[in-house]
Amino acid sequence: MMTDAPLILWFRRDLRLADHPMLTAAVATGRSLIPVFILDPETEATGAAARWRLGLSVDDFAQRIAGLGSRLVLRRGPAGDVLDRLIAETGAAGVMWSRLYDPASRARDGAVKAALKARGLIAESHPGHVLFEPWTVETGQGGFYRVYTPFWKAVKDRAAGAALPPPAALRPPTAWPASDRLQDWHLGRDMHRGAAVVAQHQAVGEVAARARLDRFLAQSVGDYREARDFPAREATSRLSENLTYGEISPRLIWHAGMRAHHEGAAGAEHFLKELVWRDFAWHLMYHTPHIATANWREDWSRFPWRDDNPDAERWRRGMTGEPFVDAALREMYVTGTMHNRARMIVASYLTKHLLTHWKVGLDWFAQCLTDWDPASNAMGWQWVAGSGPDAAPYFRIFNPASQAEKFDPDGQYRRRYIAEMSRTPGPEALAYFDAVPISWGLDPAARYPRPVVDLAQGRARALAAYARRDGVD
Ligand code: FAD
Repeated sequence: MMTDAPLILWFRRDLRLADHPMLTAAVATGRSLIPVFILDPETEATGAAARWRLGLSVDDFAQRIAGLGSRLVLRRGPAGDVLDRLIAETGAAGVMWSRLYDPASRARDGAVKAALKARGLIAESHPGHVLFEPWTVETGQGGFYRVYTPFWKAVKDRAAGAALPPPAALRPPTAWPASDRLQDWHLGRDMHRGAAVVAQHQAVGEVAARARLDRFLAQSVGDYREARDFPAREATSRLSENLTYGEISPRLIWHAGMRAHHEGAAGAEHFLKELVWRDFAWHLMYHTPHIATANWREDWSRFPWRDDNPDAERWRRGMTGEPFVDAALREMYVTGTMHNRARMIVASYLTKHLLTHWKVGLDWFAQCLTDWDPASNAMGWQWVAGSGPDAAPYFRIFNPASQAEKFDPDGQYRRRYIAEMSRTPGPEALAYFDAVPISWGLDPAARYPRPVVDLAQGRARALAAYARRDGVD
């Protein structure tokens, strides 16, 4: 079938060609296709590192699209207005996109869909960002899951559907609408000196994501379960960075993990369980959108968290004097990501030893992470803080010193990121000082700071605050 009016393909966090349900459906219409990426206010609101990293992804994807005889048109402005203008310019029959599940995207996409439908235009959304869409996983009573283990049991044997092949070509329109130039968007403007440092740690785009998956399955999946907690080791997949921008589909990872599991790879099932935590986070965000902005459990609203404060600023700068905590925060500043165990430790330290609201930490992660994911970030912070669904109880306070002894026994991770702890600091430790704003006035030759809080006193203060809050938890 060939129809004259083109279709607009509105790409957002689905910057790949393989296993892309919307792309497959669009090609099947036989229409000419106009791929578009829109820098709308929702996207502009993304934190500094994630916005910069998104630009790398868009650039890579534009090249892949060009390889199929097509183009990625770039436009800026509110998505509804931009799409209206493009439809007027091209005579397009409508728009297709892949669904997102955070409140801002849902509000935007719902309005776009209603407006297009009211004009009798095509307005089609497709799955692909998660394994199982949030409304398709229900408890026996027909509600949503608040606890992970039953969620895992409900999905682990479900068919995820076969992964779709990439299209061989995309039929171009007879005339191309004008496009912005990516560099004119200045997506890295808030990264300052950091971009050059963080860039060395990114694996951008679909090809790099596939290589990461293959390498992980060939080298690391076997002892994933035991090794994944040791931050100095290269034991995890690091695919969170690619999943965030849709450079690889979770379904492709799922099938590859399942194959490894059936072939007897010891850690494969555990890896799949972690992947399903990501789905669970989106499940929670869809059903309880307040998870990103307010205590998930309402009875926590009376907990005496401190708002932003000077101790939290030392935390942000990796200058708390608690080496495991500081190494982790510096790792994030240098690489754009942080090891999962380290995320739990810095979150516990901020919300318990420093008695500071989890929102302060969530916001800093949103600024610094290149794998920032609104759902996993919110779930992770509230899980550690104790205010979230299926959360660790507040009184379970990680001791960063004993965690370091257990998970960084030879101090490799701490030395890798803390220049002040070594006479001959390595490149990552020094890179931190190249990346931070000059205004912070940090110097690798300075003495490592004294602890901002005594661990025993911080723990006692947290427990006292918890005890005073009757009704909490
Ligand atoms: P692997 O161990 O290889 O796991 C494979 C995949 O499973 C990951 O890529 C990820 O998609 C998923 N996954 C693994 N662990 C988790 C988890 N605990 N929760 C949800 N999904 C998981 N993850 C993000 O992607 N973005 C965030 O912004 C984010 N913020 C976090 C904040 C806090 C306070 C905490 C405790 C965790 C956060 N996580 C976040 C979850 C987790 O730390 C990362 O997904 C993980 O470190 C990514 O490394 P990896 O890709 O090597 O994971």
